[in-house]
Amino acid sequence: MAGDADIIVVGGGLAGLVAATEATDAGKRVIVVDQEGEQSLGGQAFWSFGGLFLVDTPEQRRLGIKDSFDLALQDWMGTAGFDRDEDLWPKRWAEAYVAFAAGEKRDWLRAMGHRIFPVVGWAERGGYDAMGHGNSVPRFHVTWGTGPGIVEPFERRAREAATSGRLTFKFRHRVDALSITNGVVDGVSGAILEPTSVERGQSSSREVVGDFSLRAQAVIVASGGIGGNHDLVRQNWPKRLGVPPKFMISGVPEHVDGRMIGITEAAGARLINRDRMWHYVEGIQNWSPIWPRHGIRILPGPSSMWFDATGKRLPAPLFPGSDTLGQLHYIMSTGHDYSWFILTQSIIKKEFALSGSEQNPDLTGKSWRMTIKRATNKGAPAPVEAFKQKGADFIVRDNLDDLVGAMNALSGDNLLKFDHIKAQIEARDREIENPYVKDAQVMNLHNARRYIGDRLIRTAKPHRILDPAHGPLIAVKLNILTRKTLGGFETDLDSRVFGNDGQIIRGLYAAGEAAGFGGGGVHGYRSLEGTFLGGCLFSGRNAGRSAAKAV
Ligand SMILES: Cc1cc2nc3c(=O)[nH]c(=O)nc-3n(C[C@H](O)[C@H](O)[C@H](O)COP(=O)(O)OP(=O)(O)OC[C@H]3O[C@@H](n4cnc5c(N)ncnc54)[C@H](O)[C@@H]3O)c2cc1C
Repeated sequence: MAGDADIIVVGGGLAGLVAATEATDAGKRVIVVDQEGEQSLGGQAFWSFGGLFLVDTPEQRRLGIKDSFDLALQDWMGTAGFDRDEDLWPKRWAEAYVAFAAGEKRDWLRAMGHRIFPVVGWAERGGYDAMGHGNSVPRFHVTWGTGPGIVEPFERRAREAATSGRLTFKFRHRVDALSITNGVVDGVSGAILEPTSVERGQSSSREVVGDFSLRAQAVIVASGGIGGNHDLVRQNWPKRLGVPPKFMISGVPEHVDGRMIGITEAAGARLINRDRMWHYVEGIQNWSPIWPRHGIRILPGPSSMWFDATGKRLPAPLFPGSDTLGQLHYIMSTGHDYSWFILTQSIIKKEFALSGSEQNPDLTGKSWRMTIKRATNKGAPAPVEAFKQKGADFIVRDNLDDLVGAMNALSGDNLLKFDHIKAQIEARDREIENPYVKDAQVMNLHNARRYIGDRLIRTAKPHRILDPAHGPLIAVKLNILTRKTLGGFETDLDSRVFGNDGQIIRGLYAAGEAAGFGGGGVHGYRSLEGTFLGGCLFSGRNAGRSAAKAV
C-alpha cells in the first residue's frame, strides 16, 4: 500500500523513539511526528533521573541484595492492587514487564552502551506486610548520565536511521486527528506550528502556519500523559482522594498536555483507568523554572520527620520514601494540600536528592569525581544547597521556636503550635539512644542502615533532631507535584489498541505513558518507581516490533 511511510509514530519522547527505532531496524520506513521543536527530542525522559526498575542484577548482587522474579512479582502485585475488570490486560502486561525487568532489559540496554551507577536505590519501601505495597529490596538503578543517558542510545539509532533515509522527523507537526478508512487507522492530520527557538523544555508557541496530512499502514500513539495539564488532572481526579488540590506544581513540561489522548479517544480507542495517576507529595517550587509552575520532587531518604499542615506527624508507615499514594491519600484527608518536613543539616546533606537530570550534574555529566563527593562532602550537593538558600519552600533556623514561627508565616495559615511540634520531636528523639525501639520510623532507620547503599549515601546516622551539633534546623513546605498518568489506552501485548467495542482497532498502536505504560495501566494504583522509563522501553519495543510485523 502506498503511503508517506509504513508507520507513523506520534511523539518523539522515549516511547516514540524506541518504537520508531525498532521498526526501522525491522526495515520499515517511519515518520516521527512531534509538536515540539527538535531541541526537545526525547520528551520527559531527557529531564528524568534515569532511574530504572531492574531485578536480580549484578549491581544488586555486588551489594548483597538477593532479588528474584518471584519477589519482584509479589511486590508488583501487592503494589498494583489490580481490582477491576479492565485490569485484565494491565495485569498481563505487569507479568510480562516484571519478566523483562528480571530478564532481557539490562543486557538489551547494555548492548546499546547504557550504563548504571553502582549504588542501587531503594524507592517505595512500603511498610505493610510482605504482600503489601513496596519494594522488598533496593531495585532503583540510576542510569549513568541520568535522563540524557537513557535517551542517548535511542536518539542515536533514530538519527542513524534518518541519515540512511528510513526515518523522517517532522518537528512542529501537531496531530489533531487520526484518519480512519474502512475501520483501519491509516494516517494522521494536523497543524504545522511556527518554528521555535525556545530552550528545551520551555513552552513553545502554538501559532499555526500550515496544515499537514500523512498516510501510513500503522500509527503508533506515543504522546505522553496529562501531567502538564492541571485542568485534565483535576477532571480525572479520583473520588477516593477527595477533592482535587487547589494548588499544584508541575513536574513535567507543558507539552505533556494530554491533548492527543482526547484525539485518540475520539477515534474510538478505549481509555481505561483514567482516574489512576502518580503525583508526588514532596514537590518544591523550582527557584529557576524551565516550564510553567515548574516543581522538583525531593527523593527523600528515610529520616526527615513529616508533619501535616496542622502539625500532626504523619502516621506509620507513611515515612519519607515509603508509600507515595498512601501519603497523598492522607494529606488530602487533612483538607490541606501541603505538608512539612522538619530535618537537620546532617539529614539534608546525606538524604536529599532531587529528581531531574539538571538537578544532578554529577551523575548527568558522568563525573566520578563529583559523584564521590556525595559520600564525602561536608555540605549537601550544590543543587540541594541552592534550593535551601533560594527555594521559596525552605526555612533554615537555629532553634525550633523560630522555625515554627517562620513555617506559620510561610503558609499564612498559622496552624502550627510550637508545643505540639516540640513534644512530637522530643518523643522521637528519646528513641534514638537504643537500637531496639518502638518508633517505627526510627526502626526503619536502623533497618535502612543495614543496607550498605543506604549507609553510604542515603541514610544519615540516627541522631536527635534537636541536637544543635546536627543543626541548623530545616523545614520544607511540600507541595503536590503532578507527574505521571497511570491509566491509558487498553492494549494487548503487541501494543495494539482496543476500541470501545472490545475489538482491536486495526492499524492503531499505543506505547509509553499514553498506553498507561502498557495495557492501559501496568502499574495498577501504585508504582515501585523506575517503572515509567522501563514501561516506555518495553511498550515502545513491543509496539515498534509488532507494527513492523503487521505492515
Ligand atoms: C523530572 C522527571 C523525572 C523523572 N524520573 C523518572 C525516573 O527516574 N524513572 C522513571 O521510570 N521515570 C521517570 N520519569 C517519568 C518518565 O520520564 C516519563 O514517564 C516518560 O519519559 C514518558 O515518555 P513518553 O514517551 O511516554 O512521553 P513524553 O516524554 O511525554 O513524550 C511525548 C511526546 O509526544 C509529543 N506530543 C504530544 N501530543 C502530540 C500531538 N498531538 N502531536 C504531536 N506530538 C505530540 C510531545 O511533544 C512529546 O514530545 C520522570 C519524569 C520527569 C519529568
